[in-house]
Amino acid sequence: VKRPSRYLNLDANASFPVGEKVLASLKEIERIFPNASAVHQDGQRAKYLIERSRSKVRELLKLKRDDRVVFTASATEANNQVLLTPVFEHYFRKKDENFKQVLLLGATEHPSITDVAFARWNSSHFNYKQIKCSKKSGLDGNSLIELLSEEVSLVSIMTANNETGEIFPVSRFVEVIKRAAPRALIHTDCVQGVGKIEINFQELGVDYLTFSGHKLGGIVGAGVIVTKGGAPLEPLLLGGGQEARLRAGTENLLAIAALGDAVNEILLGGEERRSSMLSLKKYLTDKLSDEIEQLRVNFTDRPTLPNTLSLTIKGIEAQDFVVALDLLGVGISAGSACSSGKPHGSSILKHLGFTSEEVRSTMRLSLCGRESKTELDYVAQAFKSAFKKAFKDRA
Ligand code: PLP
Repeated sequence: VKRPSRYLNLDANASFPVGEKVLASLKEIERIFPNASAVHQDGQRAKYLIERSRSKVRELLKLKRDDRVVFTASATEANNQVLLTPVFEHYFRKKDENFKQVLLLGATEHPSITDVAFARWNSSHFNYKQIKCSKKSGLDGNSLIELLSEEVSLVSIMTANNETGEIFPVSRFVEVIKRAAPRALIHTDCVQGVGKIEINFQELGVDYLTFSGHKLGGIVGAGVIVTKGGAPLEPLLLGGGQEARLRAGTENLLAIAALGDAVNEILLGGEERRSSMLSLKKYLTDKLSDEIEQLRVNFTDRPTLPNTLSLTIKGIEAQDFVVALDLLGVGISAGSACSSGKPHGSSILKHLGFTSEEVRSTMRLSLCGRESKTELDYVAQAFKSAFKKAFKDRA
């Protein structure tokens, strides 16, 4: 198969390609003065675009009237804001002095959750505990049950994992949590869920949901916090009346409008996108398995995202393999974008019982659904060449 003229980026979980329609409408918006607080016509037009994005999010996630949608600059910021809300409430609203609050978090959460837990839920009043993984799942239900108590005030479990693609049964966990810790508020990091699986905020039953525009076809610079009715939310940033005083600062009009357009694309063709991802993933898996006998496809025993493929090739160094593929015009990652570059490799995979050797030989491919079969034929061929080269270099 001939090398395609374009670079084949199979790393959509790191940043999803921006849609054609999203790009076209961004060009229109460039001409609008981007301060939505201005009273003149351009300001009003900017405000309209922001509210349009908000209503697209409401429609996609099936929100109720009193559920809130707050735009931030990223999912990292959105996750920080949700996890810091109880801490800020305590310190700035002077609640009961003799209390203790516990945060439970999944073992495979993104650093924008875990690092907040480690740094801010680590004092005499605030404590965190991590729900364990089992070999069968990145979230062990029994571990969750053991950790639930009256002191648990917030639980954060991701909808789907960025690295393994595993989809977690959030609504089932919500039922368990509500029974054993009725005052606990529940958050789901849905960054990898929105656009790749159907998400219904009511059915999930959570109090907070966060996601990011650039992971679904928008551009970098807009994140979202959805809160159920009266769930508390404290601002991280002060200084302006934007976002109902929950996120001060001039809104990033381009990123928020692009997020709205990307959500609209999902509203119009989400089902098609998901089924295209799934059939291409299956096609690529078969091709790769045909080409490389030593290849192991991971996590086939559990529900995974339609676009995410975790592979282990015994004996190879994934970091070198990623570089070799890059030279052949194919972009993949060894682990997630945030774990790559770390000397000890992915901690998520270690949590899931992978040996250090397996972790070093594991890669993630994530599709956007617009790849062609011919392009994927080329990917399989590139894998084969990189594989042969890896063994020849060593010999
Ligand atoms: N949560 C998950 C599961 C992610 O995969 C990512 C991005 O890698 C984030 C949060 C952070 O998103 P953002 O890039 O918008 O800060």
